[in-house]
Parts: sequence; structure tokens; C-alpha cells
Amino acid sequence: MSTVAERLNHIQQQINDACKRAGRSPEEVTVVAVTKSVGPERSREVIEAGVRHLGENRIEGLDQKQAAIGHDAHWHFIGSLQSRKVRDVVNRVDYVHSLDRVSLAKEIQKRAEQPVNCFVQVNVSGETSKSGIRPEDTAEFVRTLGEYDHIRIAGLMTMAPNTEDEASIRSTFRGLRELRDEISSLGLPYAPCTELSMGMSNDFGIAVEEGATIVRIGTAIVGYESGERS
Ligand SMILES: *Cc1c(COP(=O)(O)O)cnc(C)c1O
Repeated sequence: MSTVAERLNHIQQQINDACKRAGRSPEEVTVVAVTKSVGPERSREVIEAGVRHLGENRIEGLDQKQAAIGHDAHWHFIGSLQSRKVRDVVNRVDYVHSLDRVSLAKEIQKRAEQPVNCFVQVNVSGETSKSGIRPEDTAEFVRTLGEYDHIRIAGLMTMAPNTEDEASIRSTFRGLRELRDEISSLGLPYAPCTELSMGMSNDFGIAVEEGATIVRIGTAIVGYESGERS
């Protein structure tokens, strides 16, 4: 049995090692602790261990954790977002990681009281089970967002295929980085697009090697609420 603080230490060490291999500085990498599968007490432990960014994928989770933690954290909405739920999400989170269609952008534009930091979710691996914009459509999609002044494109987000095949995980992350470079070089004022949100419990080391600036880590930090693995 290990504590949240011990697990975080271990993860930070792995991030440091990956940065060293890639010639990067660990300060370029922000850990978002994904607390969607645990209760507010475990979220508190994460905050007490020094993490300041929390990720949730449902409104109920936000309700529960924000009541317990509030302004002690920066909030990341990481799940797919239905248009009818936008109004309950946008004005209470700092980042939305799952912008993947024009209709969602329109709804954010309508409901947000100020510009929202968004990540465009890209389906780099092309798996039909995954949401996200096709890589070849991403630049055009970002260009069309210029008319929505409540949307700011902080960066791109992807999920790697669920596989043991390191080469295909790596090429997914690398593909996102290349796309990020392409979009940020467009110089669009509303789309600095400097961030790369990629890497989860099983693959964050590879993601960091490939340039991740935000890793979204759930189970490796918080474990499971019950039947905890040690
Ligand atoms: C659940 C989730 C994570 C964290 O996954 P772990 O495997 O628990 O680290 C990261 N990103 C998204 C979009 C998720 O839904």
C-alpha cells in the first residue's frame, strides 16, 4: 500500500527521467491529477501532496470536488462534452480538453462569460472508438474558430491507442506534436496552441519524451476508491 504522496513522488521521478532522456526541463510538464474515479477525500490528498491541477470528466464529479476544494485547484474538464451540458461546465473550469466539433464551439461561444482555454481533441490514431477531429482537418477547424471570441486554443489533446505496442503509442504522440507545431506557426492570435495534453497512467513517460506539456494521470496517482492495488 502506498500513499498518494509516495505515488506522486515516483511519477515525478519518472517525468524527470523522461525529460532528461529528451533534453527537456521538468518545469515544462504539468501534472493534471484525474480524480474522476475517486471521492473528494482522495482529491484533497492530491492537493495536500502539492498538485494544483485536477481533471474531471462529469458534472457530478465537478460538483462534488469543487464543493470540497474550490479555488485551491485549477480545473480541467477532460471528458467528451455534450452540447447541452456546456452551460453547466464552461464557467467553472479553467480548461476544456475535448473541443472536437463546430457545434460544441458554438455552444461554448454562447454560454461562456469570458474566453475559455480549450484543447482541440485530435484522433491521431484513427481508431473508430475514439472521438476527436481528424489530423488532416485540424488546422482548418482551428481557423474557423476565429469567429468565436470566447474560445482560446491553448493546445491540442489526444489519447494513445490502448496497446502494448510502444511504437504506435509514440507515433500517435509525435503526430500530435507535429500538428501542434504546424498550428502554432499559423500565428493566429486566438490560438497560441503551445500546449500538448497527452499521456496517461500507462504511457506518460513516452508522452513526455515526445513533448507533452500536460499529462493527465488518474489511477497511477489516486489508485481506485475501493479494492486498492498496492
Ligand atoms: C480517465 C482519463 C485519464 C486518466 O486515465 P488513467 O489511465 O487513470 O491515468 C486521462 N485522460 C482522459 C481523457 C481520461 O478520460
